[in-house]
Amino acid sequence: MYDYLIVGSGLFGSVFAHEANKKGYSCLVLEKRNHIGGNIYCENKESVLIHKYGAHIFHTSDKAVWDYVNQFVEFNHFVNSPVANYKGEMYNLPFNMNTFSKMWNIRTPVEAKEIIENQRKEITGTPKNLEEQAISLVGRDIYERLIKGYTEKQWGRSCAELPAFIIRRLPVRMTYDNNYFNDCYQGIPKNGYNELIEKLLDGIEVRLNTDFLAHKDEYMKQAKKIIFTGPIDSFFNYQFGPLEYRGLRFETERMETDNYQGVAVVNYTEREIPYTRSIEHKHFAFGTQPVTYVTKEYPADWKIGDEAYYPVNNDQNHELYKKYKALADKLPNVIFGGRLAEYVYYDMDKVVRSALRLVASELKYKF
Ligand code: FAD
Ligand code: UDP
Repeated sequence: MYDYLIVGSGLFGSVFAHEANKKGYSCLVLEKRNHIGGNIYCENKESVLIHKYGAHIFHTSDKAVWDYVNQFVEFNHFVNSPVANYKGEMYNLPFNMNTFSKMWNIRTPVEAKEIIENQRKEITGTPKNLEEQAISLVGRDIYERLIKGYTEKQWGRSCAELPAFIIRRLPVRMTYDNNYFNDCYQGIPKNGYNELIEKLLDGIEVRLNTDFLAHKDEYMKQAKKIIFTGPIDSFFNYQFGPLEYRGLRFETERMETDNYQGVAVVNYTEREIPYTRSIEHKHFAFGTQPVTYVTKEYPADWKIGDEAYYPVNNDQNHELYKKYKALADKLPNVIFGGRLAEYVYYDMDKVVRSALRLVASELKYKF
């Protein structure tokens, strides 16, 4: 009998397993994929580390989390500065003075503020959805060119049907600063994310290609407690119907050039181009290889059995999640954690923080 059976070897499961193992508790990790790491897993091709499940940049303002991950791996000095391509015109992101200058041929923050103030007048009261929130933050021109098409492709629904918080993830700055994040700490592990997960899971029994749900009753008897990091609705056999997720499809191409797009991430913001992002992986690591690998990211509808990428956090899904959460709360020996089990749009640092908090409260020490 194990102390903890951890379902999923993503960041959440791996941090939990590491800390519990360190304190002397026996752990078994089950992973249904053929590799560890969940969505931060990278594949090495000709020494280019390919972010197989989408571009991952670690960024945080949480010093404890930054120090925690830095115990295991060294980070490089990568700063994410994506560029938006709208009908062949290139605009810097996030929305900052470089973007405003290109959009309106202006030079100063006063000029930019005046234009945005004018354009946001059409929104009165608190923004009720993503469209209103976007116009209220940056005005209609930027909304139409850099937000509307991208967002509607990404989420498969109109901006008026999406929650405002999604767009508040992006900084809006009145300075010439293309750093996509406001956080104090940022980077990519120098040897890739796999090393982080390998170190977290060092000395812990991991079974790959093993779906917990295929033999749930049996596995439930093998440990005193279960940490479940898969989709919460899958645990309950979708008995109230599935929570909605957004899916993704990745197409990766090898190219005989040392530098294809000059930046790690280009966002394609017009509706007519079916992909949202083009990722040139070598730029995450300042690579000097003679060849390059580029991945186009296509948003896709999701159905049960597909990889679940983004929870669709609208009211309807929140109500459904609450019903599953009520069932989960009745199971004292199963703990649900991570992006899919908590049904939250978590970044990696929040996942680490959430796992560290859980393990500390579970094992009764202070974090
Ligand atoms: P996951 O990584 O999804 O791990 C869950 C694991 O559980 C998976 O390995 C899965 O196979 C396994 N599992 C599920 N069900 C079962 C089962 N029944 N039996 C066995 N195993 C099971 N965050 C950032 O901070 N910066 C970024 O730049 C960033 N970019 C992102 C880009 C994309 C496209 C996406 C989708 C996410 C991005 N994120 C980013 C978020 C980041 O991926 C997550 O916060 C983090 O990986 C979640 O870790 P997790 O352990 O909760 O979940
Ligand atoms: N977004 C946009 N245009 C862009 C980039 C982002 O409209 O060029 C919007 C879009 O709605 C997206 C949200 O901002 O879902 C958050 O972007 P972020 O880059 O944080 O998304 P993630 O990395 O989580 O996919």
